[in-house]
Amino acid sequence: MDNADSASVSCPNPRVIMNIQLSDKLKRDYLPDIVFNDGFVCLYCEISLVGIKYVYEHLDDDPTNNIRENIALSCQSCNNKKPSSTTMKQIALTKKAENEKRNYTRGRAREVASPSLKPELDINQTNFDIASQYLSEVVATDGCIEFKTALDSITMRCKTQTGTGSQTAVRRYLDALVSSEGKFMVVQNSEKRRVIVLREGN
Ligand SMILES: [Zn+2]
Repeated sequence: MDNADSASVSCPNPRVIMNIQLSDKLKRDYLPDIVFNDGFVCLYCEISLVGIKYVYEHLDDDPTNNIRENIALSCQSCNNKKPSSTTMKQIALTKKAENEKRNYTRGRAREVASPSLKPELDINQTNFDIASQYLSEVVATDGCIEFKTALDSITMRCKTQTGTGSQTAVRRYLDALVSSEGKFMVVQNSEKRRVIVLREGN
């Protein structure tokens, strides 16, 4: 659907094509910052996106405008409804204005795809990677880890390694990592505790 890399193969001008759709690379770059700021929920109905299909949504409905400020997460159902809902379009534009203000007040460059990533994107990416790395290590060794234990350990690691990392933020990274598109998933063990295991196929 939105695989910019394969689309560019047959195109005489790959540079143009690459800007048309949000690439998987940009999705990976943006996700930690999006969940840090908005939570891992649908922008419109606020349902948790853990375990359900979700999409990266262009807030101004321009699919070529791939700057961070124009991207949010939406459940599939709301994404389908948006074209015919003025209320949802309004929510989207309000969110975009909010994102722009956040950037403007901090005096940051607007073009996220530029070589120098914004510091805040970087720190969220680093903490997200710490969470992902930690889960990979522990799950490879032990097979699973209790959600609460992972939350505490990763929060500690983030604080040690980057000097930042609130439990709220780490919980959001974990939600994204155990989502339908993440490498991991949450199951209940025999003691009815929520544990994180590797998703089948990973
Ligand atoms: Zn929704």
